[in-house]
Amino acid sequence: MQPRDLSDLSPYVPGRGAEEVARELGIDPDDLTKLSSNENPHGPSPAAIDAIRETAPTVGVYPKASHTDLGEAVADRWGVTPEQVWVTPGADGAIDYLSRAFLDPGDSVLVPEPGFSYYRMSARYHHGDVASYPLRKAEDFAQTADTVLDAYDGERMVYLTSPHNPTGAEFSREAVVELADAVAEDTLVVVDEAYGEYTDAPSSIGLLDDHDNLAVLRTFSKAYGLAGLRVGYGVVPDAWADAYARVNTPFAASEVGCRAALAALDDDDHLERTVETARWARDYLREHLDAPTWESGGNFVLAEVGDAAAVAETTKRLGVIVRDCTSFGLPDCIRVSCGTRETTPHAVEVLNDALAEVRV
Ligand code: PMP
Repeated sequence: MQPRDLSDLSPYVPGRGAEEVARELGIDPDDLTKLSSNENPHGPSPAAIDAIRETAPTVGVYPKASHTDLGEAVADRWGVTPEQVWVTPGADGAIDYLSRAFLDPGDSVLVPEPGFSYYRMSARYHHGDVASYPLRKAEDFAQTADTVLDAYDGERMVYLTSPHNPTGAEFSREAVVELADAVAEDTLVVVDEAYGEYTDAPSSIGLLDDHDNLAVLRTFSKAYGLAGLRVGYGVVPDAWADAYARVNTPFAASEVGCRAALAALDDDDHLERTVETARWARDYLREHLDAPTWESGGNFVLAEVGDAAAVAETTKRLGVIVRDCTSFGLPDCIRVSCGTRETTPHAVEVLNDALAEVRV
């Protein structure tokens, strides 16, 4: 007995976890600075922690009201209807739900290369094919409408990541509009704004009123500090919002997750502090790292370091975990997540020591 042929599916390669590295090195995870997964270094909002505690005794029942409440709160925040908000298990879940709703077997998706690997994984899970548009280092990974349209060949879904992981580059609002207008009638343009809170650029959610071929993804994993709870959402046009009921895995967004997300959504101070720290840290990283870096709209900075695997391995031994971008197809780059005002300068010191060590 064997599963179906899975040879086309590649496993997701996450940033390395502190527990995992601590076990490998035989040290305490608290002695490590983890800057490999673009998490919130301040953690979740205290209000979300309270909500998690308060929800604990009720987890014997399926989540219903909390899911509805979260959809309504998100809708309110963005000025859309609750039906337009697809609450999902992480933004990853929203990617799957869109694949379920849009892909017939053999349909293709167009994804950025380098880029977030789950777009292509989800398409393959749903028996779809994958094409890519190149983001070129020589062009500072610029994301323009032409970058996408030069490669576009009528794919059913086109993914835009803004800010982009791992480069930090963004699409302008004009470019998103140009793309939504230029693609075929049955092509869905998906704007992944997982890092949207960290940029000044306006969300593409504002474009949904005028475009029924756009969907926007957001998450509570990054700026809201709830990565461990797996809550995200898609915002979709009114015209086909009701597809959610047909593609939603029952109760996939958990009671604890929905309650914590609701509390986090209300804590503007925590969000403000988070964004302010990330903006400070990315400036600090760009200024003090002894390596070329790229401008970033996210809570991370991409740096060109030569042998990324060797640099990441060396910093790890010195207690700082960064993301080797080899799995993104960038074997000479690392991605460093923004830490706090305390951890970031220490991480930069360690990184610069590692760079010096690897370069000799
Ligand atoms: N989109 C992008 C660009 C990401 O980097 C990530 C997480 N690394 C996600 C989506 C998924 O986030 P989550 O499922 O945790 O919401």
